[in-house]
Amino acid sequence: MKTATSISGGMTSAYLSANYPTEYLVFSLIRTSDTNCKFKDRGIAKIVEERINKPFVGTLEDDIIIRTILDLEQFLGRKIIWLSGITYDELNKEKYGGYLPSVLRRYCTTELKLRPIFNWWYKNIKEPIEMNIGFRANEKSRADRMMSKTNEQGLSVFKSTFEKGRTGRNKWVTKAWQKPNFPLIRDFIYKEDINKFWKGKNVKFAKLNNCIGCFHRSSALLKEMSEIHPEKFDWFVNQENLGKGTWKETVSYQKIKDLNFTPKLNFKADSEGCSSGYCGF
Ligand code: SF4
Repeated sequence: MKTATSISGGMTSAYLSANYPTEYLVFSLIRTSDTNCKFKDRGIAKIVEERINKPFVGTLEDDIIIRTILDLEQFLGRKIIWLSGITYDELNKEKYGGYLPSVLRRYCTTELKLRPIFNWWYKNIKEPIEMNIGFRANEKSRADRMMSKTNEQGLSVFKSTFEKGRTGRNKWVTKAWQKPNFPLIRDFIYKEDINKFWKGKNVKFAKLNNCIGCFHRSSALLKEMSEIHPEKFDWFVNQENLGKGTWKETVSYQKIKDLNFTPKLNFKADSEGCSSGYCGF
């Protein structure tokens, strides 16, 4: 079986790529078309465009993620396959009735991270592939959750469409495509081991991964994000202002932005968020 690692820009998946070599390294970039979130170094933006074969205005993650993936390629001495699906703007406008994703409707991970990887697999690999996932030794429950959704052969199943049928409707294909593999759980690798490994190495990581306004984050952390990344946070505020739902059930992002305090946060304790295995490891 062919092997791949899903790289997110976080230390953990980077550790996987460095210590558990696989035939393919794939990275799916979350993009926005909002020029207020423009990636400033247009020379590097051009490199990104060549990699993903799509326009790159900016990302809704920390801009450092671009540097991380480029650094990682240098560190590993090999190319990473850069992928990107539709922009987050298109996703919110055109899919799922225009309603925003949330903790209960977490389709953004599926559409922006997982689908581009599946589509790459469908066009290029076409047979089940073993995918290294960066769950750590203390995250067995996450791995168990992922495995509970696999079929009798232990393969994850995904549904996608690539063309229209004669009636003009989407033609759907359902494929058992990947066998999740959790080397860090098997080898008892914890966060401390990973931090130690990257110390002094020439790969720059963002303090936090995931989208700046990810709804998995606490209101206190989001408030901090609104101050560190005001333009990107405003993108999330503006999406709510379009009137198609809210990211969180109990509080709007405008309210979070307007909170009258700046908490001092423990990023580590507060940053786990999405448990899909594709965002932010
Ligand atoms: S980081 Fe959060 S908001 Fe971004 S795609 Fe993942 S779950 Fe969605």
